[in-house]
Amino acid sequence: MKNSENSRRSFIKKGALTIAGVGLFNQIDMKAYAGNDEVIVPETFPADGAFSLPALDYDYAALEPYIDTMTMQIHYSKHHQTYVTKLNEAIEKTPELQGKSLKDLIMNINAAPESVRTAIRNHGGGHYNHSMFWKMMNPKAADSITSDDLRKALMAKWNDMETFKSEFNKSATGLFGSGWTWLIKDTAGALSIVNTANQDNPLMDISSQKGKPILGIDVWEHAYYLKHQNKRADYLAAIWNVIDWNQVSKWYSEM
Ligand code: MN
Repeated sequence: MKNSENSRRSFIKKGALTIAGVGLFNQIDMKAYAGNDEVIVPETFPADGAFSLPALDYDYAALEPYIDTMTMQIHYSKHHQTYVTKLNEAIEKTPELQGKSLKDLIMNINAAPESVRTAIRNHGGGHYNHSMFWKMMNPKAADSITSDDLRKALMAKWNDMETFKSEFNKSATGLFGSGWTWLIKDTAGALSIVNTANQDNPLMDISSQKGKPILGIDVWEHAYYLKHQNKRADYLAAIWNVIDWNQVSKWYSEM
C-alpha cells in the first residue's frame, strides 16, 4: 500500500492535535464526517488506508460533573485511538479486508483470516463501541423526551424508567471484569438488556447476545476509575444524567 506511510503520518499528526486542543481537532474532523449523520462511524475503510477517530460533538469538560474531564480526555484520545491504530495495523497487512466497512468487519468476525481475527474482534469492536458511546452522551440531552415508539417499547418491558434503569444497572454491576452493558432491539422491536465481554458487540456474529444495540455503557475500569475508583455503581448512577435519549430514539427507529 503506497499510501500507508502517509496515512500513518497523518494519524500521528491527528493524535498530536488532539492533545494540543480538542477544538482544532473537532474542526478538522467534523468536516470529514459532515452529512454522515445516519451512520455512527465511517462505514468504509478509507481509500487512503486508515480508519480514524470520529469527532467528539462536545469538549472533554462538557459532561462534568457526571463524567470527568480527564477520563474523557484519556478515554477518547488514548484508549479509543489505540483501538483505531491497532485495527488499522491489522487491516494494513490483510488485503482481503481492505475496503470493508467497520460494520461489515465486526458482523463477520468468523470470516476474517485467523491471523487477524482476534485483532478485528477486539479493536474493530473497540472502535465501533466507543464511536457509539461518544454519540450516545450529550450534556444537553439529560431531560430530552424519548420518542413515542421507544417509550412504548421500554414501558412494555419494564413499566417505568426507574425500573428499566435499575435493571440495566444491576446487569452492568454484575458484569465480571471488562465489557459493555447494552440495550438491544430485536427484529420485532422488542428490547432487552444484555452484557458482552471485552469489546464484543451484539452485532457480532460471534456474540452470544445478538440484536441491534441502541444504547451501550462501557463498564471497563478505564471508563470510571479516575473519578469513582472501584465504585462502578456510582459511575452508573451518574451516567444516566448525560444519556442522549434523542440519539437512542434515533437508533431505535432506524431499523
Ligand atoms: Mn472504553
